[in-house]
This record gives sequence, structure tokens and C-alpha cells, in this order.
Amino acid sequence: MRRSQMLLPTLREDPKDAEIASHILMMRAGIIRKLDAGLYTFLPLGHRVLLKVINIIREEMNRAGAQELLPPILIPASLWRESGRYDIMGKEMMRLQDRHENDMVLGPTHEEVFTHIVRENVQSYRDLPLNLYQINTKFRDEIRPRYGVMRCREFIMKDAYSFDIDEAGLEKNYQAMREAYRRIFARCGLEVVPVQADTGNMGGSNSEEFMVPSSVGEETIIHCRSCGYVANVERAESKREFSSSSKSMLPLEEIATPNVRTIEELVAFLKVSVDRFIKSLVYKTDKGFVLVLIRGDFMVNETKLKHVLECVELEQASEEEVLQITGAPIGFVSPVNLKQKIKIVADESIPFMRNAISGANKKDYHLKNINPERDFVWDVVADIHEVVEGEKCPTCGEVLRSYKGIEVGHIFKLGYKYTEAMNVRVLDKNGQSITPIMGCYGIGVGRTIASVIEQNHDENGIIWPMSIAPFHGIIVPVNMSDSRTVEAAEKLYQQLSRRFEILLDDRDERPGVKFKDADLIGIPIRITIGKSFAEEQKVELKLRRLEEKHLVPLEEVEKVFE
Ligand code: ATP
Ligand code: MG
Ligand code: MG
Ligand code: MG
Repeated sequence: MRRSQMLLPTLREDPKDAEIASHILMMRAGIIRKLDAGLYTFLPLGHRVLLKVINIIREEMNRAGAQELLPPILIPASLWRESGRYDIMGKEMMRLQDRHENDMVLGPTHEEVFTHIVRENVQSYRDLPLNLYQINTKFRDEIRPRYGVMRCREFIMKDAYSFDIDEAGLEKNYQAMREAYRRIFARCGLEVVPVQADTGNMGGSNSEEFMVPSSVGEETIIHCRSCGYVANVERAESKREFSSSSKSMLPLEEIATPNVRTIEELVAFLKVSVDRFIKSLVYKTDKGFVLVLIRGDFMVNETKLKHVLECVELEQASEEEVLQITGAPIGFVSPVNLKQKIKIVADESIPFMRNAISGANKKDYHLKNINPERDFVWDVVADIHEVVEGEKCPTCGEVLRSYKGIEVGHIFKLGYKYTEAMNVRVLDKNGQSITPIMGCYGIGVGRTIASVIEQNHDENGIIWPMSIAPFHGIIVPVNMSDSRTVEAAEKLYQQLSRRFEILLDDRDERPGVKFKDADLIGIPIRITIGKSFAEEQKVELKLRRLEEKHLVPLEEVEKVFE
């Protein structure tokens, strides 16, 4: 694609009505535009991302044995009356009448429609199990549409509905979806935590939400770091496992010092208590050096942290020692060579080591471009992690903590609610008529994309994971009035485009403008054709997520993409 021909309106300024990073960046990078409250257009760049995410979802759903179909969005109210939901759905459901004054609904969810399809087309146990899905538009007249495509009134959802002859079958379908969801989000470069969710009056422990830990999330997740208990707050409350009336935040000193006595406890502490700013310290253990990259937030400063580390009797490494381990002065250790070096010192048998990563330990020398969710994984990535005072874990009695999350997916064992209400019957092996059991499974496509941006951006813009990037690479010819540059750019564009998705920034703009735009829209690989090309036939290669630039001969560029 040629940039000069693309509808890609990037913005220099943050739009006034956008509050969170993903919304701001989706607007600034020309990914979405607002039509009205909660109604957004995906512009061409955004549409490419949308299709990639849809494609990943589709592949994984098909891999799990689900079948795609495409029902209408406009649904006769009669189906909703049958299930008994027409009157209880409230104002979130968009209602209208057709020309014959029939009541109609714009589907906010599709249990009724899929149940109807199965009722009409399935007669015998031989036709089951079935897991049917659509990737389609949903309408919900949200009371507070906000945060761009995170919560809008019209959005694309993947929703699947499974039908089985018995609970064992449902369990199998449910587990297959659970696994598919893990794969889908991992392939999108998104870190999610499956969380036990409230099943309302359905009962049972059979609903999980896939949460993206994030301070902008609207959900509250309750977590026990001792035994791994994790639930959304509604579930924790409804099961009477817990009441949130006395939620409050303890000052850090009170949490940290008395609890942290061993390396294991320190790991637990580091994993859950800090965020936002990257602090890093190198420490010695009896197994060697440990490089710790710490996410610090307003509650944690370096002094407090050192105090905690001293509790486990670790000695901080000197600058020379750090140089020795990493082979680079502290300030110049890049995430990539860092990862390689970590392998040398990491000892998987120590839990502390498992998550240990390093950075600089000197003021103003902190590593740039490290993104904790992307470059390494915490067991729990918590943006805001509060101790829930006065409440103990229902499983092990330890202190409970809470943090915020974004619900990107939801899997649910529905039971017989819809099949019974809508009278779906099939014949079992013995010729007896039975009611199939259902499950449903949803993913918000736009919300997934916004969440990926929440987890993958820096001050200059989006940093797309390759798997869902709108383009794999961008070619930036620096001087458009130099015919050799233009010619080389054109040739490279033709060559790479045969195998990869490439954007050629062929605009007659200043290089600064082009670079800023390339960073903003977050293309993973940037190839600059500038001075070194004229001098030595080399182009400059830069990965969006790293600082370093490399000069490579023109012929070798293609290898980088492989
Ligand atoms: P929420 O609690 O955020 O209102 P929900 O529980 O009502 O979401 P579900 O009915 O479980 O949503 O739908 C499945 C998925 O659809 C959600 O996990 C989310 O990713 C997405 N989704 C739901 N509502 C919206 C919306 N208004 N805008 C964008 N995506 C949405
Ligand atoms: Mg909702
Ligand atoms: Mg919800
Ligand atoms: Mg939900």
C-alpha cells in the first residue's frame, strides 16, 4: 500500500474526548473515527487489524471444532418473548418495528436465534454435539458508551453456542473453548487471566471471564497470591466467600515488610505490588546474580524496595558486576541482549529467578522500551493492587488482594435455560426425547484490539505485535526528490510486497514527520532509505519496540522479515 493513496488521517494532538491510551492512540493513528456516541468507523488501517484479529479467532474456533454461520442481526421479538427475555432485557436492547408493525430487536446477543436454529434443524443425538458461532455485529444501547471501541453501542463480537446431549459433553465443549480462548489471546499478543465469574441465578462454578489486567479496566478481580484463587468481585460476593464492604488500601509498608522474609515471598511481593515506572536493581543470591526489573508505582519507591530486598538479605550488585554479567554498561543493555544474558544467570529452580529480568540501577539510566507484559510475563500483572482488608481467601485463608481488569472474553455454561424455554427436543440413543444442554462463549473484537494497545504502546505510539499489525513493515524513503532513493524504495516495495504486507511512505514530507507517523501507527519493522543508501547502498533497519538501528545491505532486508 502506498501511504500517499491511503485514507490514514493521523493526528498530532490528543483528541479532547479520549481519556485512555488506547482510545487516544486509535484516534491519533487513524484507526477509528467516531460517528456518534458509541458508534465508530474502523478506517482502512484499523480495518486491517480488525480482519487479522477476526482471522485468528476464526482459525482457533475452527481448530476447536466449532462451525461458523451467519444469522441475521434483525430478530423478531417473538423469539425473545419465547425465552422470556423480551421484557427483562431493558433499555440496553435496541427495539424497533417493521412496516407491518411487528416488534423487532437488533441482536445484543444471540442465544434465542441459535437455539431456534438448532430446534429447527436437529432431531437426534447423532446430530450433536454442535458448537456454532458467528462473527457479527451486536447492538447494545449502553448507558455510558466510553473509551472508544472498549464500550460502544455497535460492535463486532464472536459468539459461539454449544449444544450437547449431556453435561459431560458440555464440559468438553467448555474446556475446548477455554483452550481456544487462551490460544486466541496469546496469538494476539494479549496477556489475559481467566477469572471465575458470577453465574447469576444459573448457579454452579461454570462461568469464566478473560480479563486483561489494567488500571483502566472496569472490573474488579479478587486474587489470592498464596493459592491462586481468582474471581471477579461479584462472584466472590455472591458466593458469600467474601463481602467487599470494607475494601480499603493499606499503605505499602504494612503490606510489605512483615510478609517478606524469603525469596519466595519476595517474588510474590514483586509480582503483585508494583507498576507503571520501571525500576531495576541487580542483586546477588547464592546462585549468582539476579537481575530484577521492577515495575514501580506511586506506592513504591526505590528506598522502600531496597528495604524489602534487604529483608531477604540480598546484596545489590555494583555497576562493574553488572557490566560483567551483561557485557554492557547498565544504561546500554537492551531488552533483547538482556533476554539472552538472563538465560546465563537464570536458574529456573528458584522462583525468584523465573521472573527475574534486569534493567539499569542508576538514575536516568533506566531501560527504555521495556514493556513488562510484552517482554516478560508476570504470573499476575496488576496495575492497581489493593489489599482487601478484613477478608480472607475462601480457599486458604490468606490475605486477598484486588486489581482492575478489562473483560475481553466470557465463557459460560448456560445449562437448560434456553433449550427448555424454547422447547428444543432431540431423541437420545434409546429413542427417548431429551433436552440438549447449552454453553455460550463471547469475545469482543474491538475491545480485544483496544486492550492490545493498552498493553503495547509507548509515548510515541502503538507497538503492534506482528500477528495483528496492519502492515509488517514500512519503507521510509527520506528524500523524495532524490531519484535514486525513490527508485530503490520502489524496487524494495515491489520485492517485499510479494511476500509481506508493506506500507511505502511515498509522501513528500519531512523525514521527521514520516518517522513520527511510523512510530505512531506502530508498524513492527521500519526500513529507512537515506544517507547510507547513497553512500554505501545500505538501508537502516529499526524494530518499533527497540531503540537500536542497524545498517543492512539492500539485498539482505528480506531476511529480516522471515
Ligand atoms: P461488560 O461487562 O463489559 O458490559 P458483558 O459481560 O456485558 O460486558 P458479554 O455479554 O459477556 O459482555 O459479551 C462478550 C464480550 O463482548 C465481552 O467480554 C466484551 O469483550 C464484548 N463486549 C460486551 N459489551 C461490549 C460493548 N458495549 N462494546 C464493545 N465490546 C463489548
Ligand atoms: Mg454489558
Ligand atoms: Mg461483564
Ligand atoms: Mg460478560
